[in-house]
Amino acid sequence: MAKIIDGKAIAKKLRAVVATQAAVLKEQDVIPGLAVILVGDDPASEIYVRNKERAAAKVGVNAKTFKYPNDATEAEVLAQVEALNQDETIDAILVQSPVPSQINEQKVQEAILPAKDVDGFHPENSGRLFAGQKGYYPIANTPRGIMTMLRHEEIDLVGKHVVVLGRSILVGRPMFALLQAANASVTLLHRYTPADLRRQLLATADVVVVATGVPNLIMGADLKPGATVIDVGMNRLPGNKLVGDVNFETATKVAGAITPVPGGVGPMTIATLLETTVELAANHHQIELEQGWQNI
Ligand code: NAD
Repeated sequence: MAKIIDGKAIAKKLRAVVATQAAVLKEQDVIPGLAVILVGDDPASEIYVRNKERAAAKVGVNAKTFKYPNDATEAEVLAQVEALNQDETIDAILVQSPVPSQINEQKVQEAILPAKDVDGFHPENSGRLFAGQKGYYPIANTPRGIMTMLRHEEIDLVGKHVVVLGRSILVGRPMFALLQAANASVTLLHRYTPADLRRQLLATADVVVVATGVPNLIMGADLKPGATVIDVGMNRLPGNKLVGDVNFETATKVAGAITPVPGGVGPMTIATLLETTVELAANHHQIELEQGWQNI
């Protein structure tokens, strides 16, 4: 049976380190400020945003939500981003996805000052990641949290075959870049990858990261025995049950280690968002901090 990777427990450790870092900033009268722009009334987004606010308050991050109705204009949202760019109390800005169709999400993301781009979606930050640049810049929090989790579990990546399923800017693409930077041999699959090719590649994968939004896409029989499986998917089934993209029951019989849904990647994403917020605040005020993940 696979080891269950306890994302909740690792996230708790990370949040404790982030709280210590926020306390260091507070000694110098800096309270990290996170602004969340929420447009529309998507119930899932409202829950995410509430969870982010609650988790932020616990570690000493001041999270403020700026809520706009479904029919808000792009100009209104851009004006809000501009005001937050100028706001000295705000260190980190994110726009909760999805936004209504009249708003060009890419345009809004590009309007965020790169130094406050807590999701790492601005081309200046994602470009640095894809160029493999050294130095500090914000990186998408879900893949970054997964890297923290892999390090915590001491999963060897050097030279290993890692298959990433999904190529979104939120998860798959930055995941590919981070794994590559960690010297893994990475294969990136997407919706046009034929099922037989997918099976062929998975059979040799030492680590599998699945971020597709397709429940039960990966079954135990698809996995190489002993593989590490990171399930990013969050899918609501009829009856409100939350499941990932991996069939947990069959996968646990074959995998060496696996993340559950819920309780795997999700809590790491929020903890990493807070970690990045505190780092951006420290950079903004030129205060040195130790790297969080190294202390968990
Ligand atoms: P997305 O819809 O933007 O992208 C899905 C990707 O999956 C696409 O690149 C698509 O090509 C690929 N895909 C679809 N079918 C495939 C198949 N059969 N084989 C291989 N690839 C396939 O989604 P996203 O924003 O990247 O999110 C993916 C999933 O992860 C969703 O369930 C989302 O809810 C979840 N998610 C979870 C967290 C978390 O913190 N746990 C964070 C972000 C996203």
